[in-house]
Amino acid sequence: MQPVHSSLTTHLRCSNPGCATTFDLHERVLACTKCCDLLEVAIQPPPEDPAELKRRWLERRTSNNPCDTSGVWRFREFLPGDYRQSGIVTLGEGNVRLVRALNTAAWTGVRHLSFKHLGWNPTGSFKDLGMTAGMTEAKFTGAKAVACASTGNTAASLAAYAARAGLIGRVYLPAGQASANKLAQALDFGAEVVQIEGSFDDALDVLLNGRDPDLYFLNSINPFRIEGQKTAMFELLEQLEWRVPDYVVVPGGNLGNSSSFGKAFVELKQSGFIDRVPRMVIVQAQGANPLARMWNAGSKELEAVAFPETVATAIRIGNPRSWKKALQAVEYTGGLVMDVTDEEIGEAKAMIGRDGIGCEPASATTLAGIRKLVSEGRLDRDAEIVAMLTGHALKDTDYIIKVQQKQQAADALLTH
Ligand SMILES: *Cc1c(COP(=O)(O)O)cnc(C)c1O
Repeated sequence: MQPVHSSLTTHLRCSNPGCATTFDLHERVLACTKCCDLLEVAIQPPPEDPAELKRRWLERRTSNNPCDTSGVWRFREFLPGDYRQSGIVTLGEGNVRLVRALNTAAWTGVRHLSFKHLGWNPTGSFKDLGMTAGMTEAKFTGAKAVACASTGNTAASLAAYAARAGLIGRVYLPAGQASANKLAQALDFGAEVVQIEGSFDDALDVLLNGRDPDLYFLNSINPFRIEGQKTAMFELLEQLEWRVPDYVVVPGGNLGNSSSFGKAFVELKQSGFIDRVPRMVIVQAQGANPLARMWNAGSKELEAVAFPETVATAIRIGNPRSWKKALQAVEYTGGLVMDVTDEEIGEAKAMIGRDGIGCEPASATTLAGIRKLVSEGRLDRDAEIVAMLTGHALKDTDYIIKVQQKQQAADALLTH
């Protein structure tokens, strides 16, 4: 018998609305024991006036308490946790600026475009937002070692936060596929690196099937990571003074990030912080596009891509685990799912660089997607659009040097 949880306390719940089996918040379960779907944290926010909470969150920006200087824990009323403040594992993540697009806006043909660059986090990707929450929970439950499978950025983030928490970090990477920069970070932070022959999906299978009881799993199926990541939308709306943009555009890999944004919109609307939600657009790379294929086919079952292939290695994922949550989120917001080619990603990435911002290839899918939607007449040029950038330009320097040298060589040929 599963215990029945009062809806008045924060607990774990199966994310399948037809199942909704509940679990204790700190129970170490990877998936629903009844239907095997992913779990989510059912948050019970405090019964407070939204205006009062908005004011308090803003006020915390002037505090020097580590729980307030973190752009994640600043929103702790909507996070799980009966953690003591000293138990929170933080590197001051979050708090990234919203930057107006210049050349990139003109290039896509829209008038109101901004970037929120989650790559400007401590280890250079949005993974830090979820990792602070996941690592805090791991430490709270008494874990000694933590592990993840990763295309690189989760590994770098896990390694850093494990070091802060004093835990052993172990990361499973697809051999030869993660960028050297990300591998270097994981090593620098002292993680054990296990290279797996095959893709990210294979690495995740090895980890999950290993069922090592001493390891705490910190992949994006971990519901605590989703909680941390959702605060990106709290921060975004705060930066917009709670004016809701028309679109939020996000890259799609394993689809944890898009799931977390959807969860934020549901909670903020239900609690009266906003009265409508932005449409969420998920952009995948064409060589790793199972959700976009499914969306275009109008199907209800995901067919994995057996051999995912794209220059955007952070989203080179053929079997995204969080697809059901992400699909629910897109449908809830009236958004859409699409894909772009590696060429389109490369052009968009170079443009973002010319705006003085920079990002890694996976992040540039957002700008490429916006441009494509405009050129197809599917996006209003006057819409208020926020493109999420997910990883720092220095995450994949090989790619930049290769592409730019090829471009310069081509330009030289033309001028001779
Ligand atoms: C992890 C990652 C993604 C994909 O996020 P998901 O939550 O897996 O969809 C996109 N861009 C970068 C830079 C990443 O590190």
